[in-house]
Amino acid sequence: MLPDYRIRQRDYLLEIGRALTAQLNLNEVLQLILRFAADILDSQFALIALVEPDGSYQIRQAYAIPQPVLDLLVARMKRAPTARRAMRVLEEELVAIAREFGLGYWQVVSLPLAEADQFLGAIYVFRTRGGSFSANDRLILQAFADQAAIAVKNARLYERLTQEQQRLESILQHSAEGLVIMDAQHRILSFNQAISRLTGIDQAQAKGQTFESVVKLKNKRSGLTLEEAEAGGWPIVGSDKPLVLECDLQRADGQLLSVEVAFVALFNRQGRLLNIIAHIHDLTRFRVAEEMKNTFISAISHELKTPVALIKGYADTLRRQDARWDEQTIRDGLAVISEEADHLAELIDNLLSASRAQAGSFKLTPVELDLDELVTRAVRKWELQHPSHRFIVRLRHDLPLVLADEARINQVINNLLSNAVKYSPAGSTILVDGYTTSNEVVVYVADEGPGIPPDEQARIFDRFYRSPAAVQEGKPGTGLGLYLTRAIVEAHGGRIWVESDGKHGSKFYFSLPQSHARPNSINGSPARPS
Ligand code: ADP
Repeated sequence: MLPDYRIRQRDYLLEIGRALTAQLNLNEVLQLILRFAADILDSQFALIALVEPDGSYQIRQAYAIPQPVLDLLVARMKRAPTARRAMRVLEEELVAIAREFGLGYWQVVSLPLAEADQFLGAIYVFRTRGGSFSANDRLILQAFADQAAIAVKNARLYERLTQEQQRLESILQHSAEGLVIMDAQHRILSFNQAISRLTGIDQAQAKGQTFESVVKLKNKRSGLTLEEAEAGGWPIVGSDKPLVLECDLQRADGQLLSVEVAFVALFNRQGRLLNIIAHIHDLTRFRVAEEMKNTFISAISHELKTPVALIKGYADTLRRQDARWDEQTIRDGLAVISEEADHLAELIDNLLSASRAQAGSFKLTPVELDLDELVTRAVRKWELQHPSHRFIVRLRHDLPLVLADEARINQVINNLLSNAVKYSPAGSTILVDGYTTSNEVVVYVADEGPGIPPDEQARIFDRFYRSPAAVQEGKPGTGLGLYLTRAIVEAHGGRIWVESDGKHGSKFYFSLPQSHARPNSINGSPARPS
């Protein structure tokens, strides 16, 4: 028959084993271990110290040790340079402190908790009375130390797993791409914020539903749908090649978004399909940019072809051998060639400036400028070339000076006047006026054209943007004018905006800092248009 302590030891170890499997709360399991170890070894106090993940050695759980003793121990342990050394320090300190507190002679037995040669910590048991610890006591304590080592290892694994899970959840939730995790039957297990925004469907509402009923994919452009792929034998065990589909996603409000979806399959070790993960990438912006670029390319080719055709036509006509031209005809022809060459040069300059603006490398040479004078000169030129419109300049003659690059500000004024002429009917009036604020000079160009609908106003300053109406009516242009205008104004530390009700004309404003209030930076780096 087993001696009494052996039976108790077995029962205790069984109970600890149960606690270990039933719960993962490390502190509770360690408390149980200490209580049983103290009881079976007929001791009064016990404690467990652990090497924490940051390398420090700390008392993690104590049993029946008076708080002042514990506080002193914690304070003195900090002196130990290494965890292994701390194990010894703790033992010596215990005896010394027991003496200080007059707790009588303390016997201490300590054993390390080890896991595959790794020092995890130590268990300590103290007696204030009775005989000294025997070899058998040490053996018993070892059994408890082994259990404690398992508890620590489990808890650390669990902690790591939880952290890992939290990390993955956070990546999943905050990914800019739509992510859906579903089971083999396409039931949604996880639905992140991005896909919730894309579909317009609540995360909680999507969970548990089938992928197809929540993420409505239509108008396949390339690839295979999940259904088609599965009918063809996808997914194939061992292949991590995603299935890529390009199509439209129908939002809850019926709107269609252009998307690319990549499906990836996850298998278990036995090759059973566990999950399908869908990455949904919104291509709308990409498509819009692509469309704008195409519009730009066709616009620019048209814009380039017209002056080239005129130059070529006039040059060929004037050099014909079989014709004799009078001086006036020759002069008129050459004037057209010269004007169209200027037009071409201006177009090329706009293109180069646009790419510089995009790269953020405008070169500005700021000088003190009188905007009234600059505007009046520019308007005079437009008046001569466009008698179809009535021009009025109402700027005050005593406007404060601004510190700006003359050629660039001329470009701004010319672009605004050119648009006003282009987009307003013959016979209408174009008014240039302005005012000052405490530190700026504001100039505006008002026309009596069709105006700009409010929903287009934010986009007209985008690169390549041309309103559908302008394109439809065949108005010449490249969609670069306002983009450049804004880049120039912002490079000077100014602002540009438009006011229009979309019916009765537009008013384009730009502001420049007054020269006494020097802008923070005139460094040629325009704020990037969005
Ligand atoms: P472009 O004139 O070459 O098309 P801009 O960048 O100068 O390019 O203008 C962008 C768009 O803003 C134009 O296509 C036009 O639709 C609109 N727009 C600009 N100025 C005016 C204006 N004064 N009146 C009405 N629409 C305008």
